[in-house]
Amino acid sequence: MHNLSKSRLLSFRQCQLRLWNEVHRRDMKIEPDQSTQARFDAGTHVGELAQQRWPGGVLIDAPYWDVDGALRQTLDALRQTLDALRDPDCSAIYEAGFKAYRTSVRADIMLRVGDHQWELWEVKSVLNPKEIHAVDYAIQRAVIQQWAIDSNFPLQIVRGGILHLNRDYIFDGGALELQELFTEHDLSDTVDDYTNEVQNSFVDAAAVIDDANPPPILPGPHCSDPYGCPFLGTVCEIPPHDELTLLPRIGANRAEVWHSEGIHQLDQLDPNSDDLNVIQSRALRGHVTGELQVGNGLKKQLDSIGYPRYHLDFESTGSWMILQIGRAHV
Ligand code: SF4
Repeated sequence: MHNLSKSRLLSFRQCQLRLWNEVHRRDMKIEPDQSTQARFDAGTHVGELAQQRWPGGVLIDAPYWDVDGALRQTLDALRQTLDALRDPDCSAIYEAGFKAYRTSVRADIMLRVGDHQWELWEVKSVLNPKEIHAVDYAIQRAVIQQWAIDSNFPLQIVRGGILHLNRDYIFDGGALELQELFTEHDLSDTVDDYTNEVQNSFVDAAAVIDDANPPPILPGPHCSDPYGCPFLGTVCEIPPHDELTLLPRIGANRAEVWHSEGIHQLDQLDPNSDDLNVIQSRALRGHVTGELQVGNGLKKQLDSIGYPRYHLDFESTGSWMILQIGRAHV
């Protein structure tokens, strides 16, 4: 029997076929490219920094990749977690492992706040948590709570949410201020809003992976929302390029509306349309005329900067940390 994990449930939420592929066609998954891998590595580093925010805890170090083949490691993690939970001197647990509803999860940070009371924090290397992160947290919490019931283990999660990077923190070049680097997005009062969705997903996702046949899903806007699917281009054909989405911040939904109105190409759009903001109008005008577009305020902005000047191409850094270090030195 195949098992679920938090990441598989999030895949299910994006696309049932993606989940099915992750179980039955893993060998067809496109491996992350260097930039994606760099983002993963940065996320791992941020997770380690978050642990140091509450030093002295117990790290559950059983590996958690390879979900289907990792039952033994998961059980090891559960045993280690159990030991840590029973230890009254244990103030924090990092990467605690739990399993319920056929789903394995690892909890980034659990903080003991009472005899059997814990805070649960999921670490995300983002500046603004999104709804997907709340769902992520709700899955985590549901599995842990059910594990406690199944195991008859007294464990209560009394507070928690997403621990994410603080937009206002500026690195001064010295030691990182971990209390300032992170900020807490408390989901204690809203996590129950996702209970029905999460409970249904345990059942529905299990039905998908138990089926020997793939669900009949065609590629569409969901293939990149909220994350790019690693089966696009292998299992699923890449849809024809939609040039409307080349305009800055034009999402698939907006493009769909234009398509329904018979607009399929950029030169069918009017650069002076009220539908477009200043940046979109400028980009469209450049595309239609083939001429360089320079914003009115650029010269004034450049004149206001003294010498020497340092240039940082923030889009190519792919890392918030590098960007912040750059700001500190400019
Ligand atoms: S490429 Fe799109 S349709 Fe295919 S599995 Fe991924 S998300 Fe689903």
